[in-house]
Amino acid sequence: MTDMPRCLVLLLGCWLVLAGDALAKGVTSISTSPALTSRQTWRIHVRPSSPCQGNVVELEVTCPLGSSIEATFQGYPLEFFTWKQGGPWVALIGVDLQTPARVHRIRVVAKNGKGDVRTLNLGLPLRPGKFRVQKLKVAPRMVRPAQENKERIEKEAVLVKAILSGVSGRKFVGSFLRPVAGALTASFGGRRVFNGVERNPHAGVDLRGSVGTPVQVPAHGTVVLARELYFAGRCVIVDHGLGLFTQYGHLSRILVQEGQELRPGEVLGRIGKTGRVTGPHLHWGATLRQARVNPMDLMHLSAPPAPVSPSLPDGDKDEDEDEDDEL
Ligand SMILES: [Zn+2]
Repeated sequence: MTDMPRCLVLLLGCWLVLAGDALAKGVTSISTSPALTSRQTWRIHVRPSSPCQGNVVELEVTCPLGSSIEATFQGYPLEFFTWKQGGPWVALIGVDLQTPARVHRIRVVAKNGKGDVRTLNLGLPLRPGKFRVQKLKVAPRMVRPAQENKERIEKEAVLVKAILSGVSGRKFVGSFLRPVAGALTASFGGRRVFNGVERNPHAGVDLRGSVGTPVQVPAHGTVVLARELYFAGRCVIVDHGLGLFTQYGHLSRILVQEGQELRPGEVLGRIGKTGRVTGPHLHWGATLRQARVNPMDLMHLSAPPAPVSPSLPDGDKDEDEDEDDEL
Protein backbone atom coordinates (compact mmCIF):
# COMPACT_ATOMS: atom_id res chain seq x y z
CA MET A 1 0.00 0.00 0.00
CA THR A 2 1.42 3.35 -0.99
CA ASP A 3 0.34 5.07 2.18
CA MET A 4 1.98 2.55 4.49
CA PRO A 5 4.67 4.97 5.70
CA ARG A 6 1.93 7.26 7.04
CA CYS A 7 0.14 4.51 8.88
CA LEU A 8 0.51 2.85 12.21
CA VAL A 9 1.08 -0.81 11.56
CA LEU A 10 0.85 -3.32 14.36
CA LEU A 11 1.58 -6.93 13.71
CA LEU A 12 0.57 -8.57 16.91
CA GLY A 13 1.83 -11.98 15.84
CA CYS A 14 5.12 -10.59 17.11
CA TRP A 15 3.63 -7.92 19.35
CA LEU A 16 6.31 -8.17 22.00
CA VAL A 17 8.83 -6.92 19.47
CA LEU A 18 6.61 -4.16 18.17
CA ALA A 19 5.09 -2.96 21.42
CA GLY A 20 7.91 -0.53 22.11
CA ASP A 21 7.60 1.01 18.66
CA ALA A 22 3.83 1.19 18.97
CA LEU A 23 4.05 2.89 22.34
CA ALA A 24 6.38 5.44 20.86
CA LYS A 25 3.68 6.32 18.34
CA GLY A 26 1.02 6.73 21.01
CA VAL A 27 -0.45 3.26 21.32
CA THR A 28 -0.66 3.16 25.08
CA SER A 29 -1.40 -0.49 25.72
CA ILE A 30 -1.94 -3.75 23.95
CA SER A 31 -3.60 -6.79 25.43
CA THR A 32 -4.43 -10.07 23.81
CA SER A 33 -5.41 -13.34 25.36
CA PRO A 34 -4.71 -16.12 24.84
CA ALA A 35 -1.41 -15.87 22.96
CA LEU A 36 -1.85 -15.48 19.23
CA THR A 37 -0.26 -17.63 16.61
CA SER A 38 1.62 -15.95 13.79
CA ARG A 39 -1.43 -16.32 11.53
CA GLN A 40 -3.69 -14.49 13.99
CA THR A 41 -2.45 -10.96 13.67
CA TRP A 42 -3.93 -7.52 14.11
CA ARG A 43 -3.11 -4.91 11.52
CA ILE A 44 -4.14 -1.37 12.38
CA HIS A 45 -3.87 1.63 10.06
CA VAL A 46 -4.85 5.08 11.24
CA ARG A 47 -5.29 7.83 8.63
CA PRO A 48 -4.16 10.50 9.00
CA SER A 49 -1.37 8.94 11.04
CA SER A 50 -1.16 11.96 13.37
CA PRO A 51 -4.75 13.23 13.62
CA CYS A 52 -5.83 16.54 15.08
CA GLN A 53 -9.05 18.14 16.35
CA GLY A 54 -11.69 18.28 13.62
CA ASN A 55 -10.33 15.38 11.54
CA VAL A 56 -12.29 12.52 10.05
CA VAL A 57 -10.04 9.62 11.07
CA GLU A 58 -10.12 6.36 9.16
CA LEU A 59 -9.43 3.35 11.36
CA GLU A 60 -8.63 0.25 9.32
CA VAL A 61 -8.50 -3.05 11.14
CA THR A 62 -7.56 -6.54 10.11
CA CYS A 63 -8.29 -8.72 13.12
CA PRO A 64 -7.36 -12.23 14.14
CA LEU A 65 -10.92 -13.54 14.40
CA GLY A 66 -12.77 -12.45 11.34
CA SER A 67 -16.43 -12.83 12.17
CA SER A 68 -17.32 -9.64 14.05
CA ILE A 69 -15.63 -6.53 15.37
CA GLU A 70 -16.70 -3.81 17.80
CA ALA A 71 -15.09 -0.64 19.09
CA THR A 72 -16.05 2.60 20.78
CA PHE A 73 -14.69 6.14 20.70
CA GLN A 74 -15.81 8.67 23.30
CA GLY A 75 -18.74 6.47 24.25
CA TYR A 76 -20.00 6.06 20.67
CA PRO A 77 -19.91 2.66 19.01
CA LEU A 78 -17.87 2.76 15.81
CA GLU A 79 -19.61 1.35 12.75
CA PHE A 80 -17.33 -0.97 10.77
CA PHE A 81 -17.73 -1.66 7.07
CA THR A 82 -15.51 -2.60 4.12
CA TRP A 83 -14.78 -0.41 1.08
CA LYS A 84 -14.68 -3.54 -1.06
CA GLN A 85 -15.69 -7.14 -0.56
CA GLY A 86 -13.03 -9.05 1.33
CA GLY A 87 -11.20 -5.86 2.29
CA PRO A 88 -10.21 -4.90 5.84
CA TRP A 89 -12.71 -3.46 8.30
CA VAL A 90 -12.95 0.33 8.23
CA ALA A 91 -14.58 2.78 10.66
CA LEU A 92 -14.73 6.55 10.33
CA ILE A 93 -14.09 8.39 13.58
CA GLY A 94 -15.40 11.94 13.90
CA VAL A 95 -13.14 14.03 16.09
CA ASP A 96 -15.01 17.16 17.08
CA LEU A 97 -13.05 20.39 16.65
CA GLN A 98 -13.24 20.93 20.42
CA THR A 99 -12.41 17.37 21.53
CA PRO A 100 -9.52 17.69 24.01
CA ALA A 101 -6.10 17.27 22.40
CA ARG A 102 -4.81 14.27 24.36
CA VAL A 103 -4.59 10.51 24.01
CA HIS A 104 -8.02 8.90 23.53
CA ARG A 105 -8.64 5.22 24.19
CA ILE A 106 -10.18 2.93 21.60
CA ARG A 107 -10.93 -0.64 22.62
CA VAL A 108 -11.33 -3.00 19.69
CA VAL A 109 -12.99 -6.37 20.33
CA ALA A 110 -12.98 -9.16 17.74
CA LYS A 111 -15.14 -12.26 18.15
CA ASN A 112 -15.94 -15.40 16.25
CA GLY A 113 -18.94 -17.69 16.46
CA LYS A 114 -17.17 -20.12 18.83
CA GLY A 115 -16.90 -17.73 21.73
CA ASP A 116 -13.27 -16.75 21.09
CA VAL A 117 -12.56 -13.10 21.88
CA ARG A 118 -9.54 -10.91 21.17
CA THR A 119 -9.20 -7.35 22.42
CA LEU A 120 -6.87 -4.57 21.44
CA ASN A 121 -6.55 -1.34 23.43
CA LEU A 122 -5.32 1.57 21.38
CA GLY A 123 -4.43 5.05 22.46
CA LEU A 124 -5.15 7.60 19.73
CA PRO A 125 -3.11 10.76 20.35
CA LEU A 126 -4.86 13.91 19.10
CA ARG A 127 -2.96 17.06 18.20
CA PRO A 128 -4.55 20.47 18.73
CA GLY A 129 -6.02 21.94 15.53
CA LYS A 130 -4.43 25.09 14.14
CA PHE A 131 -7.50 27.30 13.99
CA ARG A 132 -7.31 30.92 12.91
CA VAL A 133 -9.12 33.86 14.43
CA GLN A 134 -11.51 35.35 11.86
CA LYS A 135 -12.87 38.86 12.34
CA LEU A 136 -16.04 39.49 10.36
CA LYS A 137 -18.46 42.34 9.92
CA VAL A 138 -22.12 41.42 9.45
CA ALA A 139 -25.52 43.08 9.98
CA PRO A 140 -25.97 43.82 13.73
CA ARG A 141 -29.16 41.68 13.86
CA MET A 142 -27.03 38.64 12.94
CA VAL A 143 -24.83 39.08 16.03
CA ARG A 144 -27.49 40.11 18.54
CA PRO A 145 -30.76 38.86 17.07
CA ALA A 146 -33.94 40.74 18.04
CA GLN A 147 -36.10 39.11 20.69
CA GLU A 148 -38.70 38.03 18.10
CA ASN A 149 -36.06 36.03 16.23
CA LYS A 150 -34.65 34.25 19.28
CA GLU A 151 -37.52 31.76 19.45
CA ARG A 152 -37.05 30.91 15.78
CA ILE A 153 -33.30 30.47 16.23
CA GLU A 154 -33.78 28.16 19.23
CA LYS A 155 -36.39 26.06 17.38
CA GLU A 156 -34.07 25.71 14.40
CA ALA A 157 -31.17 24.69 16.64
CA VAL A 158 -33.32 21.96 18.26
CA LEU A 159 -34.47 20.72 14.84
CA VAL A 160 -30.95 20.56 13.40
CA LYS A 161 -29.58 18.86 16.53
CA ALA A 162 -32.31 16.19 16.33
CA ILE A 163 -31.55 15.59 12.65
CA LEU A 164 -27.81 15.32 13.20
CA SER A 165 -28.26 12.82 16.04
CA GLY A 166 -29.76 10.24 13.66
CA VAL A 167 -27.85 7.17 12.54
CA SER A 168 -29.05 5.40 9.39
CA GLY A 169 -27.53 2.69 7.21
CA ARG A 170 -24.44 3.49 5.12
CA LYS A 171 -25.24 5.17 1.80
CA PHE A 172 -21.81 6.47 0.72
CA VAL A 173 -19.75 3.96 -1.24
CA GLY A 174 -16.60 5.91 -2.08
CA SER A 175 -14.73 9.07 -1.34
CA PHE A 176 -16.54 12.38 -1.62
CA LEU A 177 -16.60 14.89 -4.48
CA ARG A 178 -15.92 18.59 -3.96
CA PRO A 179 -19.35 20.27 -4.06
CA VAL A 180 -18.08 23.30 -6.01
CA ALA A 181 -14.75 23.99 -7.71
CA GLY A 182 -14.23 27.37 -6.01
CA ALA A 183 -11.24 28.03 -3.75
CA LEU A 184 -11.34 27.88 0.04
CA THR A 185 -12.04 31.35 1.44
CA ALA A 186 -12.55 30.51 5.14
CA SER A 187 -10.89 27.52 6.72
CA PHE A 188 -12.36 24.99 9.10
CA GLY A 189 -12.48 25.61 12.85
CA GLY A 190 -11.73 29.34 12.77
CA ARG A 191 -12.62 31.25 15.93
CA ARG A 192 -15.21 33.72 14.69
CA VAL A 193 -15.48 37.23 15.96
CA PHE A 194 -18.58 38.91 14.53
CA ASN A 195 -18.55 42.71 14.94
CA GLY A 196 -16.13 42.26 17.87
CA VAL A 197 -18.20 39.53 19.60
CA GLU A 198 -16.81 35.96 19.72
CA ARG A 199 -19.29 33.32 18.59
CA ASN A 200 -19.19 29.58 17.84
CA PRO A 201 -16.17 28.38 15.86
CA HIS A 202 -16.53 27.96 12.11
CA ALA A 203 -17.81 24.38 11.83
CA GLY A 204 -17.19 24.03 8.11
CA VAL A 205 -15.34 25.55 5.19
CA ASP A 206 -16.36 28.38 2.87
CA LEU A 207 -15.89 27.82 -0.85
CA ARG A 208 -15.84 30.65 -3.36
CA GLY A 209 -18.53 30.93 -6.02
CA SER A 210 -20.78 33.54 -7.59
CA VAL A 211 -24.53 33.57 -7.04
CA GLY A 212 -26.10 30.83 -9.14
CA THR A 213 -23.11 28.45 -9.24
CA PRO A 214 -24.44 24.85 -9.06
CA VAL A 215 -23.63 22.86 -5.92
CA GLN A 216 -23.21 19.14 -6.51
CA VAL A 217 -23.91 16.35 -4.04
CA PRO A 218 -20.56 14.81 -3.02
CA ALA A 219 -21.83 11.31 -2.23
CA HIS A 220 -24.96 9.16 -2.02
CA GLY A 221 -27.40 10.37 0.61
CA THR A 222 -30.92 11.42 1.57
CA VAL A 223 -32.05 15.04 1.95
CA VAL A 224 -33.11 15.43 5.59
CA LEU A 225 -33.47 19.24 5.61
CA ALA A 226 -34.17 21.68 2.78
CA ARG A 227 -35.41 25.00 4.12
CA GLU A 228 -34.40 28.51 5.13
CA LEU A 229 -32.70 28.92 8.52
CA TYR A 230 -31.93 32.19 10.29
CA PHE A 231 -28.13 31.93 10.29
CA ALA A 232 -27.47 29.36 7.53
CA GLY A 233 -29.95 30.96 5.11
CA ARG A 234 -31.33 28.56 2.52
CA CYS A 235 -29.82 25.31 3.67
CA VAL A 236 -29.69 21.64 2.69
CA ILE A 237 -28.57 18.81 4.97
CA VAL A 238 -27.81 15.39 3.46
CA ASP A 239 -27.69 12.16 5.49
CA HIS A 240 -24.97 9.84 4.14
CA GLY A 241 -25.56 7.15 6.77
CA LEU A 242 -23.59 5.88 9.81
CA GLY A 243 -24.19 9.24 11.51
CA LEU A 244 -22.44 11.24 8.77
CA PHE A 245 -24.20 14.39 7.51
CA THR A 246 -23.10 17.21 5.19
CA GLN A 247 -24.59 20.71 5.20
CA TYR A 248 -24.80 23.37 2.49
CA GLY A 249 -25.58 26.91 3.63
CA HIS A 250 -26.34 30.38 2.22
CA LEU A 251 -27.83 28.97 -1.01
CA SER A 252 -29.76 31.25 -3.35
CA ARG A 253 -31.89 28.33 -4.49
CA ILE A 254 -32.69 24.87 -3.13
CA LEU A 255 -33.30 22.34 -5.90
CA VAL A 256 -34.08 19.24 -3.83
CA GLN A 257 -36.80 18.20 -1.39
CA GLU A 258 -36.71 16.63 2.04
CA GLY A 259 -36.81 12.84 1.69
CA GLN A 260 -35.20 12.86 -1.76
CA GLU A 261 -32.47 10.27 -2.47
CA LEU A 262 -29.40 11.78 -4.13
CA ARG A 263 -26.49 10.38 -6.12
CA PRO A 264 -22.99 11.87 -6.33
CA GLY A 265 -22.87 14.69 -8.87
CA GLU A 266 -26.56 15.69 -8.68
CA VAL A 267 -27.21 19.41 -8.19
CA LEU A 268 -28.81 20.18 -4.82
CA GLY A 269 -28.91 23.97 -5.08
CA ARG A 270 -27.10 27.11 -6.16
CA ILE A 271 -24.64 29.31 -4.34
CA GLY A 272 -26.09 32.45 -2.76
CA LYS A 273 -25.70 34.82 0.16
CA THR A 274 -28.73 34.12 2.34
CA GLY A 275 -28.44 34.11 6.17
CA ARG A 276 -25.40 35.38 8.09
CA VAL A 277 -22.92 36.19 5.33
CA THR A 278 -20.60 38.88 4.10
CA GLY A 279 -20.94 37.87 0.43
CA PRO A 280 -21.88 34.93 -1.80
CA HIS A 281 -20.17 31.63 -1.05
CA LEU A 282 -20.97 28.03 -0.15
CA HIS A 283 -20.70 27.06 3.49
CA TRP A 284 -19.93 23.32 3.52
CA GLY A 285 -20.14 21.59 6.88
CA ALA A 286 -20.00 17.98 8.06
CA THR A 287 -20.84 16.15 11.26
CA LEU A 288 -20.08 12.55 12.17
CA ARG A 289 -21.92 11.20 15.22
CA GLN A 290 -22.54 14.89 16.00
CA ALA A 291 -18.82 15.70 15.98
CA ARG A 292 -18.11 18.81 13.88
CA VAL A 293 -15.47 17.66 11.39
CA ASN A 294 -13.65 19.10 8.41
CA PRO A 295 -15.62 18.15 5.28
CA MET A 296 -12.46 18.41 3.16
CA ASP A 297 -11.23 15.22 4.90
CA LEU A 298 -14.04 13.31 3.19
CA MET A 299 -12.36 13.85 -0.18
CA HIS A 300 -9.23 11.98 0.99
CA LEU A 301 -10.66 8.70 2.24
CA SER A 302 -8.92 5.53 1.10
CA ALA A 303 -12.08 4.63 -0.77
CA PRO A 304 -12.74 3.71 -4.36
CA PRO A 305 -14.08 6.60 -6.48
CA ALA A 306 -17.86 6.76 -6.23
CA PRO A 307 -19.88 6.33 -9.44
CA VAL A 308 -20.93 9.84 -10.48
CA SER A 309 -24.48 10.58 -11.54
CA PRO A 310 -24.92 11.48 -15.24
CA SER A 311 -26.80 14.66 -14.17
CA LEU A 312 -23.70 16.76 -13.62
CA PRO A 313 -23.93 20.50 -12.90
CA ASP A 314 -25.60 22.13 -15.87
CA GLY A 315 -24.07 25.61 -15.78
CA ASP A 316 -25.81 28.85 -14.91
CA LYS A 317 -28.73 28.66 -17.29
CA ASP A 318 -31.09 30.57 -15.01
CA GLU A 319 -28.54 33.11 -13.79
CA ASP A 320 -30.94 36.02 -14.32
CA GLU A 321 -33.44 34.51 -11.93
CA ASP A 322 -30.70 33.96 -9.35
CA GLU A 323 -29.57 37.56 -9.54
CA ASP A 324 -32.98 38.52 -8.13
CA ASP A 325 -32.22 36.33 -5.13
CA GLU A 326 -29.24 38.51 -4.25
CA LEU A 327 -31.54 41.21 -2.94
ZN1 LIG B 1 -18.97 29.16 6.57
